[in-house]
Amino acid sequence: MNNEEVKTTNFIHDIIDADLSSGKRTEVVTRFPPEPNGYLHIGHAKAIYLDFGTAEKYNGRCHLRFDDTNPEAEDIEYVNAIQEDIKWLGYDWGEHLYWASDYFDTMYDYAVRLIKKGKAYVCELTKEEFKDHRGIPTEPGKEPPGRTRSMEENLDLFERMKNGEFEDGTYTLRARIDMTSPNLHMRDPAIYRIKKAHHHNTGDKWCIYPMYDFAHCIEDSIEGVTHSMCTMEFEVHRPLYDWILEELEVFQSHQYEFSKLNLTYIVLSKRRLLQLVNEGRVSGWDDPRMPTLCGMRRRGFTPEAIKKLCSVVGCTKFEGITEIELFESIVRDDLNENSLRAMAVVDPIKVIIENYPEDQVDEFEIPNHPQKEELGTRQVPFSRELWIERDDYMDDAPNKFKGFTIGREVRLRGAYLATCNEVIKDADGKVLELRCSYDPETKGGSAPDGRKVRSTIHWVSAKHAVDAEVRLYDRLYTVENPLGDKEKDFKDFLNPESLEVITAKLEPMLATVEPGTRFQFERVGYFCADKDHSSEQPIFNRTLTLRAPRKL
Ligand code: ATP
Ligand code: MG
Repeated sequence: MNNEEVKTTNFIHDIIDADLSSGKRTEVVTRFPPEPNGYLHIGHAKAIYLDFGTAEKYNGRCHLRFDDTNPEAEDIEYVNAIQEDIKWLGYDWGEHLYWASDYFDTMYDYAVRLIKKGKAYVCELTKEEFKDHRGIPTEPGKEPPGRTRSMEENLDLFERMKNGEFEDGTYTLRARIDMTSPNLHMRDPAIYRIKKAHHHNTGDKWCIYPMYDFAHCIEDSIEGVTHSMCTMEFEVHRPLYDWILEELEVFQSHQYEFSKLNLTYIVLSKRRLLQLVNEGRVSGWDDPRMPTLCGMRRRGFTPEAIKKLCSVVGCTKFEGITEIELFESIVRDDLNENSLRAMAVVDPIKVIIENYPEDQVDEFEIPNHPQKEELGTRQVPFSRELWIERDDYMDDAPNKFKGFTIGREVRLRGAYLATCNEVIKDADGKVLELRCSYDPETKGGSAPDGRKVRSTIHWVSAKHAVDAEVRLYDRLYTVENPLGDKEKDFKDFLNPESLEVITAKLEPMLATVEPGTRFQFERVGYFCADKDHSSEQPIFNRTLTLRAPRKL
């Protein structure tokens, strides 16, 4: 999949091609700039795919830069998880790991440089007062009083802001740009604010912190980032990005915007995901129903499928919403192709093979994948008592039914042909047990006389079966767009049936697999051994059902 990914192209790659052939750029440097205030989600995967994938395509490099300019809400737990998730997707920043906070000294010097050029001033207006001065796009704003302050006075005030002489919210440093610009971001935006907060990296050294718009372009410039990709909401900030770098006369990075990834039935904002975690609506950031990369990993989704989705949705400026079914079908295709097969019975009824000797056990060698011989085989024990799925038996079944009915011969996958002779039910008519007989001449599942058997069902030997906790996950929300109803909270649309826990009967090999191993439980669905799975406590998560449920 990797090669295919490198070959894909998009409008940003067209720009890069032109930059390289005109000599405007001689190398391609990108960056992925997560704010360490939450876990990465599938939306971030799109940005990672574009940032790292583009660098890969052009033999350039992609930096991982923690955007830790906001002293609150940042946490080392997130820093570690972000690195793990990017690596899981198959990307590597090498030695290029950076922290925005390492540039605080440079940013301060740059701010001083702007003041000296007359391009920045200290403003005493409160946030609300400034809003009033800034006005609306169709009318020019009013000049804030600080605009006419002398350069010396601005330098002095800015230094005193840095020294902690003023309280939060009293002063800001503003770029002096244009209070009449139709773009409100160009009406003297704040570039530094006072915030007496402890920072995980710089401690209590700073009590002023740069605003995102001032910091980000400088970070890009310091690192020599040539193509800085971000999502569409930053498009209106681009003139400010350019203005700052031009006024500072430093390396001119450029920003390019693409549309966010949005998926139906999924809510993707870290703030909202944190609410689900904090309110106990899910078991944590890595709950397999979460759209986080760690949740998807635990659920059994593959990095290849996630990157394939990113490649299929492409990179455009068009704000769309991708149907979750597209993603699910990519995941199914990948798992169908690459996951091992195993037998598990999720809703068991007993089968007793009456003519099979009490203490006989057959070991059958069954392929791990129907098409891929290289994935090998495994031994599966067979004995007189088996578990099969409840819905593999039916009274008076029609011809097309694929399972047992009285008098019909069925293939027990890879083992023998067997015929159901009797059904035993409880007082309510619920099936308890099937009494069957097998044909000892059909070892391996085919009849020497060539007689045809239409159905093949899966089974697990009762005396060898492993009981496992199986978590059947469904969509977390009941509606396509949980944010679509302004009257309601997205949590009002949580699906009360998004998790059902059952006990299933597994073939014994499944008890000893490594956490994270993915399987197709034949005829049932795709499952993945949970991170807490062990032979003492087997746990499997359902990744997806075998096929998409039919749309109503
Ligand atoms: P959220 O809005 O979910 O809280 P964020 O944008 O605040 O996410 P950051 O850590 O600031 O999260 O983002 C890192 C990068 O990921 C940014 O370049 C951002 O534009 C990008 N990104 C975030 N969400 C998406 C998305 N849905 N699709 C594509 N890229 C995204
Ligand atoms: Mg953010």
